[in-house]
Formats: sequence, C-alpha cells, structure tokens
Amino acid sequence: MIQPEIKSLLREDISILIKIANSGKHYLCDCGEASLLTVKEVQSVSAVFISHTHIDHFSNFDGIFRHQIGSRERVVICGPKNIHHQIESRLKSYTWNLIDEKAIEYEIREIVSPEEINVYILRPPHWNLELVKTQNFLFEDEQVKVEFAILDHKTDSIAYLFREKDSITFHEEASGFKKGKWISELKTAFENNDEDKEIEIETTVYKVSDLFYLLKRNQGYRLGVIMDHAAIEENYEKIKAVFSEANLVYIESFYKDSDQELAKLNYHSFASASGKIMKDCQVKEAVPIHFSRRYTETDVIEVETAFYKAFREN
Ligand SMILES: [Zn+2]
Ligand SMILES: [Zn+2]
Repeated sequence: MIQPEIKSLLREDISILIKIANSGKHYLCDCGEASLLTVKEVQSVSAVFISHTHIDHFSNFDGIFRHQIGSRERVVICGPKNIHHQIESRLKSYTWNLIDEKAIEYEIREIVSPEEINVYILRPPHWNLELVKTQNFLFEDEQVKVEFAILDHKTDSIAYLFREKDSITFHEEASGFKKGKWISELKTAFENNDEDKEIEIETTVYKVSDLFYLLKRNQGYRLGVIMDHAAIEENYEKIKAVFSEANLVYIESFYKDSDQELAKLNYHSFASASGKIMKDCQVKEAVPIHFSRRYTETDVIEVETAFYKAFREN
C-alpha cells in the first residue's frame, strides 16, 4: 500500500513523502521546505522525484543530502531536463575533503522526453558527472513503477504517477483441486501470458489457459503528484493520458479563482481549474496542494472550497 504524507506546513513550500507498507523504503516528491520531514525519514528515501527546480521545490535539497551522505547507498533522483547539472552544482558548492567515494552514490535520471531518459552517476568527493546510459522508462523497483507527464509551466514540470504492482489472487473456493506448488506456477504463467504452458495437478496435466479462470488480477493502487502547471488544454490532455481513474492525486492549486489572472501570468493553476481536471480524469480522490504563500488560512479554505465544488460537481 502506498501511503503519502504532506511534510510541509501552511506557508512552507512543498514536499510529499511516500511510504510503502511493509517496506523500509520511501520516495520523496520535491524538496521544498518541510518542517515535518524527520532525519530518519530522509535517511530512508531511496528515490527523489523533482517536478522542476523553481526554488520553492528545490531549496531543501541540501537538507536532504546532508542526511543521506554516509549511508553508502545508491539514491535515485529523477527530474526535468538539466537536473543533472543543477544537482552537480549544488553538491560541488561544498567542501568534501573528509568524505570518501563510497559515502553515497547518486543516480540521476534526466527526463529529456517521454521516451528518452539519460542516466548519470555522481559520486563524492569530486562529483563529476558520468553519463552511463539512455533508457526509455523512468523508474521501476520491486514495489512501484513510476510513469510521468511533462507539463508546461513555462519550463518543464514533471507530474508523477506511482503505480503499485498489480497482484494476482487465487479463488480458492472455486477450485476442487488440492493446493500445491501448481498455484504459483499458474500465477507465473498468467503474469507472463504463457498460455500454452502445461502443469500437472494430482497426476493430470492441464493447459494453464484452461485454469486462468481461477485467478483474478487486482489493479495496484495509483497515486499521482501533479505540481506546478499552466491551466491549459495541452497540459490537460497529458494529465488525462496518465492520471485517469487514479486512486488519489495531489494537484497544484496555487491560486484562488479570483486570482486566476495571476495564474495565467505565472503559468500556474487555480482552484476550480484543478478541481475540474481531476473530475474529468475521474480520479477517486483528489487533494489540492501548494498554495500561494501570500494566502491566509481563510484564503486557503476558499481555494479548497472552489476546488472540491468543481471536483464533485455533477
Ligand atoms: Zn514553479
Ligand atoms: Zn511552486
């Protein structure tokens, strides 16, 4: 199960921590100020997902690596075009003469286009970038697969979708067979679409495709994080392609509807526009995030009210 937590207080910038049940690993979305993020949590972050590098999303990156160096782990950082140079500059601005080269390893994945991801390695103490490969997917580990959309915010702003792996369950009551290792063989054949495989149950040989009715695919939980973006049709087409029917999406709603001229000027979204695109995507649950720092608590309630009205409207 994917468990997101907003780690920033009101008037702080934005940082969302994603925990995975039964796993010690966490993922971090953006590195804005985040008073609620603990050192222990930072030390469990195995991958950081940066939407874009405006200062309100990147200023606490130093605070993050401050607590990671010395872990001797490999940490993945995903981000928009040029992210590798920006991370390199941040790291090179400190003195590292007391740190050895195994203290940490950063693997940076630069999103050039939907099909082109450049992978770089950065190691202390010199932090010289090394391009290792170009790949056509962003991120996948044992727990999740991450998809993305490149949105327009007058610069690329990456919106991420965390997809838990689908699980396959066996209808025990539907089977008159004795349990055995054939169940896991059947599941594997099902996962691999290996329809012609044969398995033996109690001395009888069956074609696996004749037994697939005993299995059920349960779609994994899908969590979206959509940061800064202009409220324009071009972005909405991309959002719909990736986030439709997601279980939960956090979405930037920087401005009140009455400030939508400012939203337009700054390539941001505003309350009802964000609520409406979430409704159009038919997501099960949506949460507005990342409000202008000029806003009081009353303004934020106004944003939330307009957002949920647009989201729930029939
Ligand atoms: Zn921004
Ligand atoms: Zn922002």
